[in-house]
Amino acid sequence: CGIVGYVGLPETPDRELYALDYVLEGLRRLEYRGYDSAGVAVVADGKVDYRKKAGKVSSLDVELEVSPLPNAVLGIGHTRWATHGGPTDSNAHPHVVDNGRLAVVHNGIIENFAELKNELSAKGYSFVSETDTEVAATLLGDFYNKEAGRDLSRAMQLAAQRLAGAFTLLAVHADHADRIVAARYNSPLVIGLGQGENFLGSDVSGFIQHTKSAVEMDNNQIVTITATDYSITDFEGNPVEGKPFDVTWDA
Ligand code: GLU
Repeated sequence: CGIVGYVGLPETPDRELYALDYVLEGLRRLEYRGYDSAGVAVVADGKVDYRKKAGKVSSLDVELEVSPLPNAVLGIGHTRWATHGGPTDSNAHPHVVDNGRLAVVHNGIIENFAELKNELSAKGYSFVSETDTEVAATLLGDFYNKEAGRDLSRAMQLAAQRLAGAFTLLAVHADHADRIVAARYNSPLVIGLGQGENFLGSDVSGFIQHTKSAVEMDNNQIVTITATDYSITDFEGNPVEGKPFDVTWDA
């Protein structure tokens, strides 16, 4: 199971690679971790668009040939090792909520998902998959639209405070075509720093082709990356410093 995120500058001239190219390449490099499904989401023209498929990244490639995604400079990708719900297309990530505007990928297990699902169902939300992840995505969307006042980072802090278990969570929203917000708790996540582009990966193999400059995050942290910047906080929103390091091994 692996996670990749990419954000670049929209105005880069002569761009040859788009978010999807970086994300799919990163997913292939993370294949060694083992998985049963794969999926990607991009944000372009103020819209979230996604494809997901049970099976190998090559099955997702076929799906993307039949039904291409638009060129975008913001994207996330996921390979799934099913823990809650079988390896089906609908259980694959990303899980897309908030009327198609919020896409979430997740590695790990949300241990209190049943309790949260009951709470959210009572508020009127319904679910299309059997996963713990869709519950986390729905919780995030609820905080985003209510308590967090459409601040995605704040919403992730509030959601992370409610989630138990283990999670690397990445979220993109149609309202914020310039950023990925991610949370880390008992599950790995590394930031990769490029020139006018930044990355997230379960480990450095998610982006090592493109940069050797990385930042380690600790447990209980939230990061927001844009093409030119990153900022880390704890789950309460207090700023914290990441630990920069250089990747010393070759791609
Ligand atoms: N628990 C989640 C699921 O079953 C994520 C599994 C993973 O780490 O890939 O969908």
